[in-house]
Amino acid sequence: MSNLTIRPINTGFVTMIPKQYLYHHSAAAFYPDASDREEEYPVYTYLVEGGEKLLLVDTGMADTERADRYHHHGSRQPEGMAIAEQLAQIGYKPEDIDIVVFTHLHWDHCFYMEKFTNAEFYVNKKEYEFAMDPIPLYYKSYEAPELGIVRPFEGIEMKLVEGETEIMPGVRVFETPGHSVGHQSVEIDTAEGSYICCGDAIFIMDNVKPIEKLHYDITPPNRFSDIVATWKSIRIIKERAESWIRFLPVTTGRSWIA
Ligand SMILES: [Zn+2]
Repeated sequence: MSNLTIRPINTGFVTMIPKQYLYHHSAAAFYPDASDREEEYPVYTYLVEGGEKLLLVDTGMADTERADRYHHHGSRQPEGMAIAEQLAQIGYKPEDIDIVVFTHLHWDHCFYMEKFTNAEFYVNKKEYEFAMDPIPLYYKSYEAPELGIVRPFEGIEMKLVEGETEIMPGVRVFETPGHSVGHQSVEIDTAEGSYICCGDAIFIMDNVKPIEKLHYDITPPNRFSDIVATWKSIRIIKERAESWIRFLPVTTGRSWIA
């Protein structure tokens, strides 16, 4: 029995057009309620308490100026929502965090790393290598120096992991590539069973639903570096989760959309 608990922490809002981003173009017509207008989605990180060490899954998004200028226009991090301020509200300092596990290194998952002065940072080896030398299409996603800015993980020592790895008792990572080259998900054992922080591998619950008419066993999103890997990763998470309520997508902070 694990005593770990998982606390969602929202670090701001990213703008997206669901029909263009969250649903593959072949699938969008099967979700008539999905909006074709810009909407705001929260960007959650997850704090894991009650274990040997205090662990955070992702550090969340950048400040408003940076998010709006370099990334999705209109994205914002309201006052008090940066990760350090959010932690302060529940009695922690960034220095209290022992371990940060990254699902991947896109800008909205790893900002403010320099504040976590006592933490060990874990990331998938393929993700780190690609993030340090991305193709130009992903310069913004990884805040490449070619843009004239300093990327969040510049000069920071990272522990590189591959495959399935135990990070501490009750917390494991496993590879779920496709959204990004080296994306990984984080499986956490709690008293209620295991939950999977799936980062951007699954954006919304619709991504795990089948579309029978197309023979799809899932609904792929439209944002990916590799659609085949994306598809297989969603399958892997689905098979691994005990039920639908065990996913924790980054865009909801909840394991179920009512
Ligand atoms: Zn991402």
